[in-house]
Amino acid sequence: MNAQPTPPTVFDVQRVRADFPLLTRSVHGKPLVYFDNANTSQKPASVIEAMDEHYRRHNANVARAVHQLGEESTAAYEGARDKLARFINAPSRDELILTSGTTQSINLVAYSYALPGLKSGDTILTTVMEHHANIVPWQLVAARSGATVKAAPIDERGELDVEQYIAMLTPEVKLACVAHVSNVLGTVNPVREIARECRKRGIPLLVDGSQAVPHRPVDVQALGCDFYAVTGHKMLGPTGTGALWAKREHLEAMPPFFGGGDMIREVRFNGTTFADVPHKFEAGTPNIAGFVGLSAAIDYYDSLGFEAIHTWEQQLLAYATERLREVPGLRIFGEAAQKEPVISFLLEGAQASDMATLLDLQGVAVRSGHHCAHPLMQFYGVPATLRASLAFYNTREEIDAFVVALLKVRKLLM
Ligand code: PLP
Repeated sequence: MNAQPTPPTVFDVQRVRADFPLLTRSVHGKPLVYFDNANTSQKPASVIEAMDEHYRRHNANVARAVHQLGEESTAAYEGARDKLARFINAPSRDELILTSGTTQSINLVAYSYALPGLKSGDTILTTVMEHHANIVPWQLVAARSGATVKAAPIDERGELDVEQYIAMLTPEVKLACVAHVSNVLGTVNPVREIARECRKRGIPLLVDGSQAVPHRPVDVQALGCDFYAVTGHKMLGPTGTGALWAKREHLEAMPPFFGGGDMIREVRFNGTTFADVPHKFEAGTPNIAGFVGLSAAIDYYDSLGFEAIHTWEQQLLAYATERLREVPGLRIFGEAAQKEPVISFLLEGAQASDMATLLDLQGVAVRSGHHCAHPLMQFYGVPATLRASLAFYNTREEIDAFVVALLKVRKLLM
């Protein structure tokens, strides 16, 4: 008997949308079209309810109480570490530091890993397309140590010049950095290749994964990097949650960054000893309810699967790009061969901020501005762009409504 081909699975976006309460609201009397997902994603009811349930039934501090509620809170918080570790395929849960987001994760590496070893003449390599979170912490520690920050170039299409990045991996480079996915252009960078070249030269690699984890399965072991930073609120989770994964050898060698409760073994005035990793980097009371929500967010991704998410998002990206190309005078920034669903653009003769305001009046939420990427704006010679960033709960109909709104705005401004 001939094997029947498996029918393509249909992504039931309307069923998915029903899980996101906020998507049903209107803005200025118009149905909301939320295209600001790279800024922060919306949250499914399961995330909101998990946090609500935590505060209603389980709330207590972690690691400090032997009572039932303390145990429940600790189990939930540590459970989030397990889930995140599995989510990015970390070799060990102990290599995952729970943080407030990518900004804190990268600053932890800057101050605890990089700064102690940096000296005049050393270099930290980053790229022109980075978010400020992957530039400014390096500048701050470079200023303290006499090191230099260098940025690898990109081309007009918004692709990293990988050859040049590799050529810049000279012996002075003590740490290399790169975004997995650009928050402005959507470009997916070839992290595996970069990591391979870094390993050949003995240079550790930090990857900013903020814009990758909402869209694609991440496997830090397969990528071969040394540090991987994520932020929870862009991946359906609450604000103020995130993580840093780092190889154990680095974490063992790094001194604590914040001092305080929960990160010590014993405190004495003649010498304090510290907890084992990961707890030596988690001083003070963490965002427990936030991590309960982030756990639920990971469960939500698991329930859909990244294969279905990726296929749908790529269809949306292709459709949105095609529709935007119909708008006269519209220029798209970032046309890399491999992209996540982020489209930056400008309309000839119109200010990005005016357009964003007028689009908002049509119910369309997009971001305008420099997107925390000044060097990238300087590269393109523009002060700002508009950015439509999509998620798997967006629809083709929303893209159509967005284009109608854009054409209206264009008429008003021309
Ligand atoms: N890196 C990238 C690529 C981002 O897009 C963002 C947020 O926009 C960040 C870092 C900073 O993330 P957070 O503010 O959540 O720490």
